[in-house]
Amino acid sequence: MNLPLITRAQEHNQRTAIITDVGAFTYEDLLNFSSQIATSLLQNAADLEEQRVAFLIPPGFEYVATQWGIWRAGGVAVPLCTVHPRPELEYVIINSGASIIIAHPNFENILRPIATEHNLQFILTSDALPNNIARLPEIEITKRALILYTSGTTGKPKGVVTTHQNIQAQVTSLITAWEWTSSDRILHVLPLHHIHGIINVLTCALWAGAECYMLSKFDSELVWQRICDGDLTLFMAVPTIYVKLIAAWENASSERQQIMTAGCEKMRLMVSGSAALPVQVLEKWQKISGHFLLERYGMTEIGMALSNSLHGQRYSGYVGQPLPQVEVRLVDDNGKLVPPETPGEIQVKSPGVFLEYWQNPQATAKTFQDGWFCTGDLAVIEKGNYRILGRMSVDIIKTGGYKVSALEIEEVLRNHPDIQECAVVSVADSEWGERVCAALVLNPQRQLTLESLRSWAKEQLAVYKVPSKILIVAELPRNAMGKVTKPTVVELFC
Ligand code: AMP
Repeated sequence: MNLPLITRAQEHNQRTAIITDVGAFTYEDLLNFSSQIATSLLQNAADLEEQRVAFLIPPGFEYVATQWGIWRAGGVAVPLCTVHPRPELEYVIINSGASIIIAHPNFENILRPIATEHNLQFILTSDALPNNIARLPEIEITKRALILYTSGTTGKPKGVVTTHQNIQAQVTSLITAWEWTSSDRILHVLPLHHIHGIINVLTCALWAGAECYMLSKFDSELVWQRICDGDLTLFMAVPTIYVKLIAAWENASSERQQIMTAGCEKMRLMVSGSAALPVQVLEKWQKISGHFLLERYGMTEIGMALSNSLHGQRYSGYVGQPLPQVEVRLVDDNGKLVPPETPGEIQVKSPGVFLEYWQNPQATAKTFQDGWFCTGDLAVIEKGNYRILGRMSVDIIKTGGYKVSALEIEEVLRNHPDIQECAVVSVADSEWGERVCAALVLNPQRQLTLESLRSWAKEQLAVYKVPSKILIVAELPRNAMGKVTKPTVVELFC
């Protein structure tokens, strides 16, 4: 059987699939180019039989054609991160057991030595491709398709393996919920080694027969320029990107601001996810764009699980309800369902849930309970909608016997007139068990003492939630997705 993604693309043949700064590419271009790549990977073999192929290519047509080429040859795609230093790239390549590396010439210097050292096949995207297309294998959808490396809070990143069937379930759930059609046109600004950019944006667009406009890297001005063209229908990003776009809007002339706003108003949907969306950001974005951002919750291991509704009422600070094909439950420390309005761990069951952590059966077994995937995230249902309280291991702080949510405290601290950004973490403490600590980025030319912050915060938070240590920093440590890396914040206090 041919992969459904490929069969569907054949139906859209002449339609535009990908647009980049070098040109527009149709579905037919994508099919042709990816079959050439598949042929070259196969080297006369019938099927790559789930060999892992690591690839490092900037966002654009070549990235997509390579990913499809790997799939069409029966391989497992292992996308690498464009901003990772050599040790991290090497870790992913070796851990995944990749036998082939495909690199854009920009990354030859960093990747060729790894290939030579480990005796791996090395291919440049600039190498000539065969003109005679081989007979490509039939791919069972139960086969492994993708390994994405996800950084846990402890230890080395784990390879999350999804099958073609998992991907299909993740994609069709979003296609249904957010009503993707072939008339959609989305601007892609996210990294392509992470689920958000690969599944929610790229694969959903191509599944729907829509147009995906790819920027080679994120740049606020370029994003706004593209939005101002006024022909996009969808936009999806992480909260940090919305913060950057807000800053760029605020710096623009009022004439330009009107055009920017008008461009946003032409879209049918704007989505935020991958990290908690601060209410302040949601409100500012609503003023600028006229859009009440649709916030959703998901994870590399499960795809998307919860989403605000497309047409119904959305609530700030909430991530809505389970998506189509997804079952969600909240359980307590003993694995029992929690009573209404009580926080519990989010557990998920769906055909989109991943197959396994790559070559790590113990870790895989540990994260499932009676067939439910244990996310490690805490949430509560209020008025029928889920509110995320954070990662149990880092965001739930046990201080003086109280359990407090770091995300809830951050939400309050962001309302302080001197605070631009903040990250609340727990630091081990002999007196309190864990102490609530806050790393703060202040607005320009502002100062803040612990005493003044505490007296302000006590007006809004129970006293045990008020940070007892603060640290003023120039910026918060973030990963390639723009997410604050809390373990690094904790280190700042030690
Ligand atoms: P990743 O696998 O990199 O996508 O990270 C998944 C984690 O991001 C989840 O386990 C949550 O902790 C966090 N996350 C994703 N979406 C949200 C959201 N809307 N609000 C709060 N946290 C989120």
